[in-house]
Amino acid sequence: MKIGFIGLGNMGAPMALNLVKAGHEVTGYDAAGVTVEGVANATSGAEAATGADVVITMLPNGAILQSVAAEIIPAMPKGSVLLDCSTVDVDSARAVSDQARENGLDALDAPVSGGIGGAAEGTLTFMVGGSEAAFATAKPLFDIMGQKAVHCGPSGNGQAAKICNNMILGVTMIATCEAFALADKLGLDRQAMFDVVSTSSGASWSINAYCPAPGIGPQSPSDNDYKPGFAADLMLKDLRLSQQAAASADADTPMGQLAETLYQTFVETEDGSGKDFSAMLPRFSARSRT
Ligand code: NAD
Repeated sequence: MKIGFIGLGNMGAPMALNLVKAGHEVTGYDAAGVTVEGVANATSGAEAATGADVVITMLPNGAILQSVAAEIIPAMPKGSVLLDCSTVDVDSARAVSDQARENGLDALDAPVSGGIGGAAEGTLTFMVGGSEAAFATAKPLFDIMGQKAVHCGPSGNGQAAKICNNMILGVTMIATCEAFALADKLGLDRQAMFDVVSTSSGASWSINAYCPAPGIGPQSPSDNDYKPGFAADLMLKDLRLSQQAAASADADTPMGQLAETLYQTFVETEDGSGKDFSAMLPRFSARSRT
């Protein structure tokens, strides 16, 4: 397929590279001038979108997605698919898909789980909202960039699934980090802690696949001085989206609410901005109970 790819950051660059390796013709654009080997370099989003069968966007937030969509939708051929893989609010996802449909295109919101490791290895999970037809068009691309794509219903439902998933992730990462910090203070060796929890009922993706303790478990951002990875700022973004959605749906989410408060403090008033979201572990280690 002829694919436009807009947003070649931590996630977008490896995803675009996997599409190139699978033999697709990819033209990319990133506002920061990032280039990826094998990806033709466009000088604007509209140029990357021109003549594409599918345009993939992997951008920081809903406002940026909406402005990029307004630029590229008129440049996309009728019948092509706008495939947004960013994590954005449900309203932005639905607004972009409405705009695409009004212009004779189809659209999918398909946020991902799996982090930069999953993006590089082509093992992401896609949570997809949109039509059956657009899902069928994009399925071969999901199969290259990921290991699983779940069709969650109409436009916006992919984002709804993502927000719920990441609310669990934020809560379990905090729980894992505070437990490691407690284990340290109780004199429990970190490797022993990992060996027990990762095979016991406290296991989760946060410890098994993304262990926040350096030198323990598989390679993760903790082994690279907590360079992201998945930045604490982006986790805060997702937790805000979850609480915004919870407020509008009148859902009681106390753990998600507390996770949002902790990440907000970490990012805005401590030194968490720009660090991986697993850097909650050194934060807890440096603190006392009061
Ligand atoms: P990133 O900041 O590394 O990449 C975003 C890229 O978009 C940047 O390179 C930026 O220059 C580019 N960009 C911004 N505005 C643009 C514009 N107007 N036109 C073209 N390019 C523009 O972020 P990331 O980590 O790659 O995350 C991308 C999205 O994926 C986010 O929505 C994030 O929440 C989501 N996500 C990230 C991870 C992760 O582990 N990093 C995991 C799952 C989902």
